[in-house]
Amino acid sequence: MLIDLHTHSTESDGTCSPSELLAQARAAGLDVLAITDHDTTASWQPAEVAALHTGVSLVRGTEVSAHLGSISVHILSYLHDPTFAPLATELARIRTDRKNRARNMVARLNADLGLTWEDVMAQTGGGTVGRPHIADALIAQGLASSREEAFSRYLHPAGPYYVRHYSPDARQAIALIQEAGGVAVFAHPGARCRGEVASDDDIGELAAIGLAGLEVRHRDNDGAEQERLCRIAKNFGLLRTGASDYHGSGKVNRLAENTTELRVLQEIAERAMGRVIWA
Ligand code: AMP
Ligand code: ZN
Ligand code: FE
Ligand code: FE
Repeated sequence: MLIDLHTHSTESDGTCSPSELLAQARAAGLDVLAITDHDTTASWQPAEVAALHTGVSLVRGTEVSAHLGSISVHILSYLHDPTFAPLATELARIRTDRKNRARNMVARLNADLGLTWEDVMAQTGGGTVGRPHIADALIAQGLASSREEAFSRYLHPAGPYYVRHYSPDARQAIALIQEAGGVAVFAHPGARCRGEVASDDDIGELAAIGLAGLEVRHRDNDGAEQERLCRIAKNFGLLRTGASDYHGSGKVNRLAENTTELRVLQEIAERAMGRVIWA
């Protein structure tokens, strides 16, 4: 069984629609795909319909933006109730502020480079707005040749154009995910390329309040980090997942480049309120 538990569609910053994503998953030989767009469940309905036609089993999830002090983190929520109002309201709040934040970043970029809000809107699919859409607008205007270059030249957190967006504390995010019947897994917890990462103690504290697992096998966790994360998972009894974080043509990550064991998926499914759609 090939299981990839972290991907993005055009409902956030991926470049494939949910149905294209499922078709590509099938072509890549995947048996199970999770679609985990940033701060939204908008892909869930179209993905459910497409999964039934494609023959790929579907895990519906959301990658929730959160923070630990000054560290920005992502918490994957699997199989929660998308109508549970406290979580849905929090996700809407994040999406709204992501839009304000993008407008502020574009205002700064406009002053130096002439980039406009319309340029960025032309790159979104109506879903959650993120820096990758600003990157795509910079590419369309000939100001960068790839998302990579746009991030390293203009969009990285240390640069003059960066603006933060609202996110809940990770403890609050995990509590909401659990109340919504979901299972919380810490996405790319050792991604040093993105900045400071959570300490062993931070992760232990999250495990104590209900974090279920760590996304150990992810290309942004280097070898030493994967070793550290395995040790932490063992100490605190956390599940270990692996996933691609595929964004279509928007990133180099390939579908199924990291995968999750069936036993681990079964454990997630048992703990969650929602159900896997088995093909
Ligand atoms: P945001 O959530 O708006 O702050 O943007 C972060 C998103 O940008 C994440 O989904 C990352 O996968 C993506 N990202 C971060 N760095 C890069 C990069 N160098 N190239 C392409 N995408 C990136
Ligand atoms: Zn993304
Ligand atoms: Fe992420
Ligand atoms: Fe992601």
